[in-house]
Amino acid sequence: MAFKKTRYAPSPSGFLHLGNLYSMTLTATIAKKEGASILLRIDDMDKVRAKKEYLQDIFESLTFFELPWQEGPRDASEHEDRFSQTSRLYLYENFLEELINKGLVFACTCSRSEIEHAGTHAVYPGTCKNRNISLREKNVCWRLNTSEPIDIQLKEYGKKTERFLLPENMHHFIIRRKDGLPSYQVCSLIDDVHFGIDLIVRGKDLKDSSLAQLYMAQLSGLNDFLNTTFLHHPLLLNKEGHKLSKSAGDTSLQYYRNMGYNKEAIFALLNPEGFGS
Ligand code: GLU
Ligand code: ZN
Repeated sequence: MAFKKTRYAPSPSGFLHLGNLYSMTLTATIAKKEGASILLRIDDMDKVRAKKEYLQDIFESLTFFELPWQEGPRDASEHEDRFSQTSRLYLYENFLEELINKGLVFACTCSRSEIEHAGTHAVYPGTCKNRNISLREKNVCWRLNTSEPIDIQLKEYGKKTERFLLPENMHHFIIRRKDGLPSYQVCSLIDDVHFGIDLIVRGKDLKDSSLAQLYMAQLSGLNDFLNTTFLHHPLLLNKEGHKLSKSAGDTSLQYYRNMGYNKEAIFALLNPEGFGS
């Protein structure tokens, strides 16, 4: 099986850590094996958390570890000039408009704590589904009405296609945030379609997101995306057994570089005991 194109999709919301290195190295290895080219697609829609030094760190890390990419920005300034997700906002907005025209979008005013009190932890019980709150109202997020039980087919790399229903924690997932910007699920799906990605390598923590994206693709007839192959890899855990997180300040690649570690020494830190199942 050969693939055309995969991608690295880091977010400039913190310094990259060992988990990001693992994910990108795996992407590079599989791309090479499959003869696929690699797009660098930086997820920068979240302007609140994005910082210039984090953006810079992405390019420094890819260069330091000699991770190749053939498409996308060569440096931070080219990213900002030509490749920022802001420049594709119209694509995301057109897509949201299509979902609205299909009658699949509702506005929601619930706060996080209201959702937690209303039902099972982290599951949105559909509180605002029939409230008819105007989509133009301020301070509302937009949710996709996921009442239709779609048979989602997920093709996992090297495995048979499996069938899933949308997991509970994704019921009526957010497609536009309260600040008016498209959500990660929308940007990621539309970007991967726009750039012609047919192989996605990402952590297991994003498997439910993959299902949400496939659900949307099926609803809106983005048929090419339905043939995407996914590889959901195990996550690297910290000493406490939690997944590494940029916002929690888990030891960054930059820290090791500054300590004088060379690239081999840092790769050697990706030891098998550090992975979850
Ligand atoms: N930018 C996100 C991350 O770094 C998402 C990656 C993806 O969509 O695969 O986890
Ligand atoms: Zn609500």
